[in-house]
Amino acid sequence: MRDILYVDMSTLSVERKPLPEKWSRYGGRALTDAIVYDMVPPAADALGPDNVLVFSPGLFGGTTAPNGGRLSIGAKSPLTGGLKESNSGGQAAHALAKIGFSAVVITGKPSDPLARFMLTIEADGAAKLSRVDEWTGLGNYAVADAIKAMRPADDHYSTITNGPAGEAGLKASGIAVSDMKGLPNRFAGRGGLGAVMGSKGLKAIVVSDKGLKGVEHADKDAFNAAMKRFSTALTTHPVSGTGLPTYGTNVLMNILNEAGGLPTRNFSSGQFEDVEGVSGEKQREVTLERGGNVKHGCHTGCVIQCSRYWVDKDGAYVTKGPEYETAWAFGTDCGISDMDTVATLDRLCGDYGLDTIEMGGTMAVYMDSGALAFGDGPGAIKALRSIFNGGQPGMVLGHGAEATGKAFGVEHIPVVKHQSMPAYDPRAVQGIGVTYATSTQGADHTAGYTITANILGVGGSVDPLKTTGQAELSKGLQIATAMLDAMGLCIFVAFPVLDIPDAFVAIYDMATAHTGQTWDTDELMKLGRETLTFERLFNEAAGFTAADDRLPGWMKTVPLPPHNTVFEVTDADLDAVHDFVADTAKEMGLK
Ligand code: SF4
Repeated sequence: MRDILYVDMSTLSVERKPLPEKWSRYGGRALTDAIVYDMVPPAADALGPDNVLVFSPGLFGGTTAPNGGRLSIGAKSPLTGGLKESNSGGQAAHALAKIGFSAVVITGKPSDPLARFMLTIEADGAAKLSRVDEWTGLGNYAVADAIKAMRPADDHYSTITNGPAGEAGLKASGIAVSDMKGLPNRFAGRGGLGAVMGSKGLKAIVVSDKGLKGVEHADKDAFNAAMKRFSTALTTHPVSGTGLPTYGTNVLMNILNEAGGLPTRNFSSGQFEDVEGVSGEKQREVTLERGGNVKHGCHTGCVIQCSRYWVDKDGAYVTKGPEYETAWAFGTDCGISDMDTVATLDRLCGDYGLDTIEMGGTMAVYMDSGALAFGDGPGAIKALRSIFNGGQPGMVLGHGAEATGKAFGVEHIPVVKHQSMPAYDPRAVQGIGVTYATSTQGADHTAGYTITANILGVGGSVDPLKTTGQAELSKGLQIATAMLDAMGLCIFVAFPVLDIPDAFVAIYDMATAHTGQTWDTDELMKLGRETLTFERLFNEAAGFTAADDRLPGWMKTVPLPPHNTVFEVTDADLDAVHDFVADTAKEMGLK
């Protein structure tokens, strides 16, 4: 049973309908894209009633497929103006899939902009909206506590919540998903999707899966056999089996610093002299000293377990991670080398519902204006708090790096399609520059993670400082990533999948055994191409052109120390990345 739950916020009604046959091979990012493409006029106001907000588990949601519990969230983005998919860990995807939902689609907008609603989805599929006006302005942690207080003590549920940033319509706002302990610390951070949720008056979704078993397979024995092969690949690869479980995602900090590709002080250098304080090695040492947790999964079935909890000097929980991207954004990019400061900023963002990549990039841009010194941790905390306490610089920060850079007259604003760049400088890692430039999502490392071959030697090796092969590398990874996102697989499975041929085979063996459909290499790649085609066509109709598939001009002229290189991949190479879209659209009957 794969159904869609439609929730109309204009009429405050809910309706359950079967998943249309044409989307039977879609889940996760493919399904959120298909629905947004189908329902949203490309010129729609992202915060208006015509936008829709879609939550979808991947095809493996609700199963024991290792690392197969990602939740895709999609809508037209108020930040990029394009079709956005941002996916999150946490338990909600598995819960929705177990109930039988392939997607929850939020449409319309309530007539009262001050009304706040909670959507409750019970384990039997019953869904209802209730008023929670008293939660207006509450942070994600307080909302999680309030939900806990109203649920039965023996319930088993997940939460999807929206902080004050989303309620305020801030373009850097994300959506929080609860982890296995019920903490709202997993995020669909990118692209301002919290603002879309806020525009619909939706403060929280509660999904109960109490007593439910996993989703049934067409061939259980075949699924279990393929699942074991996949799990073995994940746990034996050096990155997913050792590096990530030991140091978390922050295993990358020293690696990128050594490679000279670690953006420092608003992308003015590729190395940070004080990197030690925010490195993964130091993070692990301090976390263990303080009695924090250094290895767990963000959802059931994760065998890599890159997640961890940062605790304060008294051993009290502060936040998850911090992840590499957060430690980089609020650390290196802001010239800050103290992990407690980074964790405080991370916790504030988590509670407000702000994307840490966008906000770290924003803070660095703000510092670059001269209004705050690089390295001023207390000043950064004060500035972040000012978004909500009426201080200075205030709310502009919450609209992201581009808005802040323009407001403060900053020359170097590292964004693509209005979205802040993540933790790899394209001038020292040319492949990731191709991904930033051409991704339908705006600057997004996860859209095509060329760090694999550019830096880690995974899936081959492509010199990060040369232009040769970068466009092909990014194109292949963008297609493969879209497929993984549609399956609901965590991006970190890409490491073994790129190096261990049987890991890739195991994905389509699991898909075949689970769905009863025939899946093979061609079908998986077709799924990736179709997913990107929805996004590309939507963006084109929304007004995007080749000029949007470019890095900021200064990255082609201002050299980055220590390699003193600039971004040199040609426009022709960038324009070739999506050369499959026209043919794929025709095959899909979309054009
Ligand atoms: S590897 Fe990390 S991000 Fe991926 S599912 Fe596991 S804990 Fe979550």
